[in-house]
This record gives sequence, structure tokens and C-alpha cells, in this order.
Amino acid sequence: MKIPNKLVDDVITQIAGEHGVSLVNSFKNKKNTSEFLIAEKTGFEINATRNILYKLYHANMVSFTRKKDKQKGWYIYYWTFKPKRVKDILIGLKKKRLEKLQEQLHRENASFFFRCSANCMRLNFDQAVDFNYKCPECGSLMEQENSDAKKAQIEQEIEELIKSLSMLGVKGKEPINVKTASKMVKKH
Ligand SMILES: [Zn+2]
Repeated sequence: MKIPNKLVDDVITQIAGEHGVSLVNSFKNKKNTSEFLIAEKTGFEINATRNILYKLYHANMVSFTRKKDKQKGWYIYYWTFKPKRVKDILIGLKKKRLEKLQEQLHRENASFFFRCSANCMRLNFDQAVDFNYKCPECGSLMEQENSDAKKAQIEQEIEELIKSLSMLGVKGKEPINVKTASKMVKKH
């Protein structure tokens, strides 16, 4: 599956922040573009430019070579975008989100929740009992929350994530790693 451009931009934004896309666009289709040229094209300060490049490098979305400037004696870095990495990163981000949602759903299912009638805070069952069903903030009575809608929303997002992961070639219904699964069991 070819990743649509819009999705590529989403991934870049998640990795490198809001200026990531315009930065990448300035050298996307060329190899070994100097960091100074990138800064010039984007209008970002050289430090801001490097900062974004390092974030992308940390995610392995760009590579660099460096050459010594013979006159000044320092190194200049030349950057290349690695479009093939986008898919793996996208899968990683989706898996991470999926794990988070599965843990959240697990928490929702593991307890009842109570909400202050003045809406100060939300407590789980044990906490609500500790506070005698009274809001520790304002003293109002805590009411049991109906979390069905919330759970349904989480479940729907989980389903969509699993579907889009399988479109990206990730097999299996629950591409969740064993480590996280055992962590979840231990926690509750
Ligand atoms: Zn309250």
C-alpha cells in the first residue's frame, strides 16, 4: 500500500512538530541538501532547522553525510529524506495508540467511576469509597458515571486501528506485544 501524502505529512508532524512538513518539503526530492540551504529555503533559523532535523533523524526518517568546510574548519551536514521509513513509523505510532487504548479500556472495565456532581473530578470506585462518595474538592456527592458511551468510543477506535494496521500489512487481530500484555495483567 502506498501511503497517501496527507498521511505522510501527518507522520512528519507527529515526529517533528508543526514545521516539520514544510522543512521536509524543502529537500524531499533531492539527496544531500545542506542544512544551510534548508534553513534558507524554509526561512527557519539554523538552530530551529537543526532541531527539527534531529527529531527526524532520531526517528530514522532522514540520513546525513557531513563534509568539512576547509576554510572554516567546521562540518556542514547534508540531509536526505527516507520516504520508505514512513510506513514503519506509521505502524509504530498506530500500535502505540492501540496499546494505550487497550490499556484504557482495561482500566474502564476494571472499575466503576464516580464523578462529582459539580464536575470537579472523577474517581475510581476505591477512591470514591475512601472519600465516602463525597468530592474531596467541594464536598458534593459523587455520582456513579455511566461509561458505556466512553467505552463504545474506545472500542470503535480500537477497531479502526486494527483495520488500518491490517491494511498496512500488520497481521493478526491484536498486534500487541507480549511484554505490554503481561504488564497489563500484572497491573490489575
Ligand atoms: Zn466537587
